[in-house]
Amino acid sequence: MVTPVRLHNTLGRRLSELTPLEPGHVRLYTCGPTVYNVVHIGNLRTFVFEDILRRHLLAKGYRLTQIMNLTDVDDKTIGGAREAGLSLPEFTAKYEEAFFRDIGRLNVQPAEKYPKATDHVPEMVALIETLRERGHTYESDGSVYFRIATFPGYGKLSGIDLSQMRRGERVAEDEYEKEDAKDFALWKGAKPGEPSWPSPFGQGRPGWHIECSAMSMKYLGRHFDIHTGAVDNIFPHHENEIAQSEAATGEPFVEVWLHGEHLVVDGEKMSKSKGNFYTLDDILAQRDDPAAVRYLFLSVPYRRKLNFTWEALAGAAAGVARIRSAFGRIEEVAASGAEKPGAFDAKERGRKFLEDFTAAMDDDLNTSEALGALFPYLREVNVASDDGSLDARGARAALEAIRSADRVLGVLPAAPDALPAEIEARIEARNAARKRRDFAEADRIRAELASRGIVLEDGPSGTRWKKA
Ligand code: AMP
Ligand code: ZN
Repeated sequence: MVTPVRLHNTLGRRLSELTPLEPGHVRLYTCGPTVYNVVHIGNLRTFVFEDILRRHLLAKGYRLTQIMNLTDVDDKTIGGAREAGLSLPEFTAKYEEAFFRDIGRLNVQPAEKYPKATDHVPEMVALIETLRERGHTYESDGSVYFRIATFPGYGKLSGIDLSQMRRGERVAEDEYEKEDAKDFALWKGAKPGEPSWPSPFGQGRPGWHIECSAMSMKYLGRHFDIHTGAVDNIFPHHENEIAQSEAATGEPFVEVWLHGEHLVVDGEKMSKSKGNFYTLDDILAQRDDPAAVRYLFLSVPYRRKLNFTWEALAGAAAGVARIRSAFGRIEEVAASGAEKPGAFDAKERGRKFLEDFTAAMDDDLNTSEALGALFPYLREVNVASDDGSLDARGARAALEAIRSADRVLGVLPAAPDALPAEIEARIEARNAARKRRDFAEADRIRAELASRGIVLEDGPSGTRWKKA
């Protein structure tokens, strides 16, 4: 029997049992990076939380379609490109590559698709047109605004107090304060020197919020299962996404909203001005152990603040080392070939351990409790190995149980035979994309592999790969 997954839904602020709208298939939208700088470890904490969600749903046997957008046009990317004296695509390409490199180093599994905002402007325009036809918009100075008073459900996600709001006040910026419920920009009239696209409302560019509504509904349908981000996304971004999407379709947009808490540094908000702003490169320059960073993120459940300190990172590195060294010792016993009657029953204990592990993960992805189930099991198996009561068969069963948990945790090195098979599968996916002339997808797969240190060479006898 498959036990149900319970998740804390921000909409309604309660635990809900996941029941996919299409039986057996979970459709998931995870807000992706704004590619205007190298992501910081706070952003990465959120991407790892979403990866854990992904891996747990796959481990439960669900088919999964995960879409993560890349915000490559908005106020921040345009401002950054201008300052750097680069075109918008030149500017964002650099950070897109850095993003894939970072998530690859943290062993984040690739989503099914990473659509870019600049490739979906027609879909955004069509959505704004629908909103206009249904009377939810007004135009001012060449821009189109969403009139929040036309959507009675406005505020249901964030619980914002609308009583202070003055009708018709509007905001042109993509990001604004929680206290400021205002009509927001769907389409921003072109300004000199800014990239722009033609539309029925005049030349301009999309607002940030409409990007995610258009891309999520294009790939996942008008009504899908899970939408995630960090807590700063609740207002205004996700509140506005709900308003736009539901006002356009007249249907509910998303069943379950999940929001990860922030990473803070020495108890303070991470910010450039305080000098406590870390990228993954900054961290790895001090301690070259990406698995320790991943473990640190897992050691605190996603809905609790995570306080980054160097001591906590050292503790996480010790945790990874313990798992790896226990695993290595069990591998030695497994390789010994000896089998004994009356040996330690690693299989039965492994089954019990996986039951506890899964129960913790089912409980709103309680990763710290899941890790808490792993260590007693490792200890028992190690004690059995020390006193000679672990035989090869038991060791193999233990390795299988630990590997099974690690398909979610992702802190052990990949099994030696898993890598080639995985790469061959990605090469096949790339060949299929090339066949259907989806060269953007083919290039993306090449870039994704490159970010993991795998180089592809296309030759007359097919595609070969090697380590960079
Ligand atoms: P952005 O590139 O700013 O759109 O952020 C990418 C993701 O990281 C979003 O889901 C943000 O909500 C999330 N995020 C931003 N700051 C933090 C932080 N300090 N801790 C955790 N997640 C964050
Ligand atoms: Zn988004």
